[in-house]
Amino acid sequence: MTIDDQSHLKKEAENSTNPKINRYWIQRYDLFSRYDEGIQIDEEGWYSVTHEEIAIKHAERCRGKVVIDCFAGVGGNTIQFAKVSSSVIAIDIDPMKVKMAMNNANVYGVANHVDFVVGDFFSLAPSLKGDVSFLSPPWGGPNYCKVESFKMDMLQPRDGYSLFKIVQSITPNIIMYLPKNVDLAQLEEMAFLSSPPLTLEIEESCIGGKMIAITAYFSRNAA
Ligand code: SAH
Repeated sequence: MTIDDQSHLKKEAENSTNPKINRYWIQRYDLFSRYDEGIQIDEEGWYSVTHEEIAIKHAERCRGKVVIDCFAGVGGNTIQFAKVSSSVIAIDIDPMKVKMAMNNANVYGVANHVDFVVGDFFSLAPSLKGDVSFLSPPWGGPNYCKVESFKMDMLQPRDGYSLFKIVQSITPNIIMYLPKNVDLAQLEEMAFLSSPPLTLEIEESCIGGKMIAITAYFSRNAA
């Protein structure tokens, strides 16, 4: 057994027994079907990565487009965008996440379709260009589901309203991946109050028939 194999086995033993990670680790093949081929995930990555089946659905809507993955994390969405879109800009503020996302995109053989950027989305926003902006910002940790109704101002690192305003200056097509208990009336209000108003489609994002999140697709009405 090589030293790499040994450290991999040690990491797997740690992940499977760490009480914070175990409930995500048991879903590892739902998160990345190629998990065993060298996927890297840190603690925040474990609880925030988009399930592969859902990421594939998000990507289907972006076929042939230039996608900006504004909060790319360890690359769950980025990888699926890279498979079907024209190109992907993947941004994360944490250099370790970007390193892992690059590694993971390599595992899937799609790294050369992605421009990886370490940086603060809010600082980069004025210089970004694309067709679709994909937003899966932090939901404030695993406790997001403890509230009855998740409000836009609970999104991190800035409230959802200002995030939405900023992203509209980049693209009119916006996809937001949000907690299942998000206040839908707030999303409708955001679409309606945009100038011009945007069309909003809500999708229940499910795994094994169970809703685990909401995806909101905002787009400009055809003229
Ligand atoms: N969709 C991703 C998960 C994203 S989790 C996946 O499937 O893997 C949210 C990410 O937002 C975290 O990795 C966090 O580091 C990043 N983030 C937080 N604040 C940010 C900012 N200001 N700019 C860019 N990325 C940020």
